[in-house]
Amino acid sequence: MENLSAKQLRDKIAAGRISSGEATEAIFKNIEEREPTIGAYISTFRDSALEKAAKVDKRIAAGERVGQLAGVPIAIKDNMCTTFGATTCASKILDNFHAPYNATAVEKLISADAIIVGKTNMDEFAMGSSTENSGLKQTVNPWDHSRVPGGSSGGSAAAVAGGLCFAAIGSDTGGSIRQPASFCGVVGLKPTYGRVSRFGLVAYGSSLDQIGPITRTVADSALMMNVIAGHDAADSTSVDEAYAPVCDYLKKLDEPIENLKIAVVPEFNAGADQQVQKALTDAVDIYRKLGAEVIEISMPYLDYAIAAYYVIATAEASSNLARYDGVHYGHRSEKADDYIEVYSKSRAEAFGKEVKRRIMLGTYALSSGYYDAYYLKALKVRNLIRSDFTSAFEKCDCIMMPVSPTAAFKIGEKVDDPLKMYLSDIYTIAANLSGIPGISIPCGFDDNDMPIGLQILSPAFTEDKLLRIAGMFEAKTDWHTKKPTVIN
Ligand code: GLN
Repeated sequence: MENLSAKQLRDKIAAGRISSGEATEAIFKNIEEREPTIGAYISTFRDSALEKAAKVDKRIAAGERVGQLAGVPIAIKDNMCTTFGATTCASKILDNFHAPYNATAVEKLISADAIIVGKTNMDEFAMGSSTENSGLKQTVNPWDHSRVPGGSSGGSAAAVAGGLCFAAIGSDTGGSIRQPASFCGVVGLKPTYGRVSRFGLVAYGSSLDQIGPITRTVADSALMMNVIAGHDAADSTSVDEAYAPVCDYLKKLDEPIENLKIAVVPEFNAGADQQVQKALTDAVDIYRKLGAEVIEISMPYLDYAIAAYYVIATAEASSNLARYDGVHYGHRSEKADDYIEVYSKSRAEAFGKEVKRRIMLGTYALSSGYYDAYYLKALKVRNLIRSDFTSAFEKCDCIMMPVSPTAAFKIGEKVDDPLKMYLSDIYTIAANLSGIPGISIPCGFDDNDMPIGLQILSPAFTEDKLLRIAGMFEAKTDWHTKKPTVIN
């Protein structure tokens, strides 16, 4: 069962060849054995999962119509609101927060008859690239327990790679789906901004955040998109389907692509480690052999993506996190003598170091006198980066680049050097600044036997084509079938 993809499992369950109950039991057995080491989950829901699985099995046996994910065990990043369990954002400030509603993406998974296994660990409020900023626990990379799973959706990626669920959802503000997917050797898709509803996703950088799937295969990613994509009246930034229709991503997956034109950005990729560069070159060669034309382009503004991102993301975070004041939500200090102290002590006691750093950076960038110099400047740079992509996509169908400059690094290696940590997002951030979709698919291993990902970026609302391009590679390679051997 462990080798099945979510889609294969779904098909077998629908055909009555495996029951959802068996699949769910198998996942919880893995969780019992491996979770003490991997630490992917903040909470799990064994009883309700088995109960729902039994219901799905009964409905299938009775010949009733079931949803697209009927009976498939799935995990949710813990920054998405659920009426069941807590929604902690891996923070102390929300460690006992129970949401009054489900996020739209979660609601859609439930309506598609998925089995919700649990909620996964992450960097506190999704701020980080290694899941080491979690205020609650440590997650390790299933491929090597001394290494990070990536972040901030490290729990979701580790759960998929470690056989602790069949698929998961994460959120990506600057790379948090793609980078952990690449570190854990699985597939991660950040959809176009506005494609998947953000309603019920705890906001970090609202103009950048996007929910997307982390899966074992490209087809699973398409299947998950079939369920979670689409307009939602509850999210004013979700896009009208009359303007950008959703489609059956899974059905379209096998449509061949004629005259595929791929662009690479050599001067930008030169910053990545040699082994990552080699994996990229080899991957692009495979596409060439499949008939694609490969061109080299230059995107001069990409170099400024990190600087612009860390002004914009922190500015938005400082505003979004103002709501955790000890009054509306979560932790309230017991040492406060007046109302100012309720705010300051509650926040001082319960926010982690990185979150505080970002609130301070963002507040500074937005303060009068510095707003023009930092925030407004960053917005202008954001526009230039967007125009870099617009002109690139006039010449090609997609751009290929690394996901991260290195494969998964050691736990502790970058925790004391935030700038080094920020640099690990250099290849993923531009997609968020531009709102375009990006996918990470397994494309090799480094000398430490750690997975390397290939990133493919395409124009806004072309997820169907992006998935097809990714699928072409997956069909010709077997990187995605490799499994961590150190699972214990
Ligand atoms: N690592 C980036 C950050 O810390 C991106 C995080 C994310 O995508 N949520 O902001």
